[in-house]
Amino acid sequence: MMSKRILILLLLACGCMTSRPQTNGLRASVEVNEHPRTDSWRVTIKYSRPADGLVFDVTREPFRAAAWHIVKPANARWIDIDHHDAISFAEPTDTVVLEFKSDLRPREKDYHVNVGFSDGSRLLYTGHLRSRPIFGIGTYDPRENVVHDWHFVTDTTRRIRLLDIAGTGLLRWPTPTAHWYGDTFVYFGPIRPMSTRNLQLIADPALPPWLVPRLLDIAPRLFDDFARQTGTTLEFQPLAFVSWSGGNSPGFSFAGSTLTGVMQIAIAGSGWLQRTPESDAMWLRNTGHEIFHLWGGQVLTPADDAEWLSEASAEYFALVGLRDANVISEAMLHKAVVEAANECIARIGDASILQSGEEKKFRNFYTCGLVTQFLADRAIAGSSSHRRSIGTLYETMFDDVRTRTRRYSTADFENALGRLSTDTEANREIAQLVEQGVAPAPDAFFEAALQRAGVEVSRVPLDEATVNEATLVFARASQDPALPMFLRLESRQ
Ligand SMILES: [Zn+2]
Repeated sequence: MMSKRILILLLLACGCMTSRPQTNGLRASVEVNEHPRTDSWRVTIKYSRPADGLVFDVTREPFRAAAWHIVKPANARWIDIDHHDAISFAEPTDTVVLEFKSDLRPREKDYHVNVGFSDGSRLLYTGHLRSRPIFGIGTYDPRENVVHDWHFVTDTTRRIRLLDIAGTGLLRWPTPTAHWYGDTFVYFGPIRPMSTRNLQLIADPALPPWLVPRLLDIAPRLFDDFARQTGTTLEFQPLAFVSWSGGNSPGFSFAGSTLTGVMQIAIAGSGWLQRTPESDAMWLRNTGHEIFHLWGGQVLTPADDAEWLSEASAEYFALVGLRDANVISEAMLHKAVVEAANECIARIGDASILQSGEEKKFRNFYTCGLVTQFLADRAIAGSSSHRRSIGTLYETMFDDVRTRTRRYSTADFENALGRLSTDTEANREIAQLVEQGVAPAPDAFFEAALQRAGVEVSRVPLDEATVNEATLVFARASQDPALPMFLRLESRQ
């Protein structure tokens, strides 16, 4: 039987903090009608002038043609333009009407279309409804701004909430004074938000009862720690959604994403029902990861070549934050780093971290990536008296890019590392893992790198190694007879 004991989906933080864009005259007025009884949506898009078709331009993979019904105009059809869902009209028109059922599936490296709560509440991601009109053939220009005005409608007594505005039955966005203009999740349903100093929380009423108090206990400490570490305080009180789709499936399912001012977490699986050391650690690490994305993915956003860095830093800062909050010990942090190194050994093959992105082997961003952040932290600590180490690197990097593009690249990371770490051997090892890869002996590479960073490890067969379940399952399922050796963390107590 294929093991699905641990299924973790950590989604990328994308989107960015934007001010309201300049209009060049192209506008889209979008009315979104939720039909709770049929769990479906009717979307009416009206452009400021008639067009020959439309393109949905913020999407990773086309998905709409099979599931979304074109109600209007007649004889319109789905087409593909540069790997984007698009609609071609039979004759010019300014109005399009679409219908679709709630789509609750997680989407790899992309936002959900909808998120389901157990009480029937729904989230809708506006980015999947953002479109641009096209005029004639060959006039599609993704740089052209299309200003969207949104009008959300549902049953007259049902609440709608979006960032810091709310309405009953209907809601318009943006408002004349709206501060935010990025894509976001819109909430439809009756749940009243809880508020703490750092965040507003809309939590599924059927969540296992230990999860929310645990989050509210630890999250403020992580917010404070990340602000101190990176020298960057968030300018907003984020809105967090935590939804639950039941404990019928085995193990742990966790899907998270962040947007400007928003953190979205969807969980399921029987593993979450009881608080155990395993479920507790997984809950806090994964939510810590998403919280860090409010810095590394939202205050500033990663360049195309730095998605790995966004994930790697979120993985590592979650551990550092939990250690600083005395939730985990330094030894447990080391264990997590060795487990990540072993998962990287099992999966990376001939690739580097950057090549992993090209090959869609995104898991390596989290595991191999986590090790780069640990090595950087140790290299900086060994080079100076900086108390914050890795935090100083991010403060430096954020300061650098804030004045330029608000996007940080792999080169920005390596330049900041080069300035803060005089450990040229560690810097070279990190660059090798990121750019060239560590074949043919990843086990020897990580053993040497971790030893130099002060973590005592030895090379052993898989059965004796410090591995998590995901690595065990993956390594045993791989048919490779020349399985590498793995690492065991040696306890010095
Ligand atoms: Zn992430």
